[in-house]
Amino acid sequence: MGSEILQLHIFFFPFMAHGHMIPTVDMAKLFALHGVKTTIVTTPLNAPFFSKTIERSKNSGVDVDIKIIKFPSAQVGLPEGFESLEPSKGMGMDVISKFFLATSLLQEPLEQLLQEFKPDCLVADMFFPWATDAAKKFEIPRLVFHGTSFFSLCVTECLRQYEPHKKVESDDEPFVVPNLPGDIELTRKKLPDFMMQEIETDFTKMLKASRESEMKTNGVVVNSFYELEASYADFYRNFLGRKAWHIGPVSLCNRRIEDKAERGKKASIDEHECLKWLDSKKPNSVVYVCFGSTVNFTSAQLKEIAMGLEDSGQEFIWVVRLDKGNEEEEWLPEGFEERTKGKGLIIRGWAPQVLILEHPAVGGFVTHCGWNSTLEGVSAGVPMVTWPIAAEQFYNEKLVTDVLKIGVSVGVKRWVRVVGDFVNRDAVGKVVKVIMVGEKAEEMRSRAKALGEMAKRAVEKDGSSYSDLNALIQELSQRRG
Ligand code: UDP
Repeated sequence: MGSEILQLHIFFFPFMAHGHMIPTVDMAKLFALHGVKTTIVTTPLNAPFFSKTIERSKNSGVDVDIKIIKFPSAQVGLPEGFESLEPSKGMGMDVISKFFLATSLLQEPLEQLLQEFKPDCLVADMFFPWATDAAKKFEIPRLVFHGTSFFSLCVTECLRQYEPHKKVESDDEPFVVPNLPGDIELTRKKLPDFMMQEIETDFTKMLKASRESEMKTNGVVVNSFYELEASYADFYRNFLGRKAWHIGPVSLCNRRIEDKAERGKKASIDEHECLKWLDSKKPNSVVYVCFGSTVNFTSAQLKEIAMGLEDSGQEFIWVVRLDKGNEEEEWLPEGFEERTKGKGLIIRGWAPQVLILEHPAVGGFVTHCGWNSTLEGVSAGVPMVTWPIAAEQFYNEKLVTDVLKIGVSVGVKRWVRVVGDFVNRDAVGKVVKVIMVGEKAEEMRSRAKALGEMAKRAVEKDGSSYSDLNALIQELSQRRG
């Protein structure tokens, strides 16, 4: 790469939630690996999330700078130290509104940094609509990071434009998403709750502003690869007329065990102990069960998952977050741990997810369909049980089950923020078996493996994501002249 490209400097400004910060740290590392100087802008309490990961990756020659701006929690009436959106801190609409108000107050300190360092580009999260104007003041191009798939971006846009959900009679009546490639069927119950609200809220206003500001940006960076969702990438670019670069799966930039084991948060299990457990298992014999960083199941739901896993007869790794009220005796069925000893591993807290998924012993993934998890499952080549909870996870479910045909739905019928709709043990046991054993499992596994290979090729030299990333770097370099 030429010296001109080596000097290119990109600012990344992630939203303060794990599902946004994790791909951002990977993205910053990826650009750094391609010779770009990268800086992450964040707040004091979120800084260690990045600095620890970056410290580790320095050993593999990747350096990312961090700049810190103060988060005005108290100013908007949030408790001191409230700097990220996490269910343990409360996720009511009042809290969310205050949080977004606080983020909008970051415009001024961000502008000071942009003025001082004059980066060549600002990649800012979709949740910061005002970042476009901030960058424009200094003639810096702004790119948007949504952290989701082309598929989900297209579904969102088609729903917005054609409003098919307003033309059905009931919340359960299926409708097809108009104009979108493939017959993608949804119901009102599976759409985000704010789409059904007639009155404007601070959150819906912010989403509107986000969309409007996006039209004035230089485009969108997507954590996906072309081969995975080619018709939706084409639809997004050609039909909707948006400029986009696909550069993923960004998690694949982590090559060493240490980097895969810790992307932001330290795992609650020693990575070598975890690998040793997996090494003792047969290929494709273990199902990995994890619901991302924000889902907070009730004790009753956790118990049902435990019994379902036991009924399935499969070996498993199950990640459980024990928030208030989920003490052991309340959620584990009696004698569960003795009965599943050696067969199941429960990780209480945070798992080294990518490391686990990539292990040959793992043959299936029960996921809430957050985009990072979905893409990590695709990259690892494993069939999935889809168990969406909220956000755009019901769209990702459709991509996995209906478009890619590498997964089976557990049958969740409606969107319920944080805690999810209730699923019983029979449904869990049944679908886990479907993705793990039998003819259907083998068919899905072979399709999933093929996609996993494509994902790896996409990020290798001359692969689709590698080329798109270089095209973006070239464009930014030329722009600077
Ligand atoms: N993750 C992890 N260990 C865990 C839970 C989650 O490493 O125990 C990571 C996972 O690999 C993914 C991210 O956290 O990169 C979760 O993002 P996703 O979009 O799947 O879901 P969200 O947390 O935003 O709902």
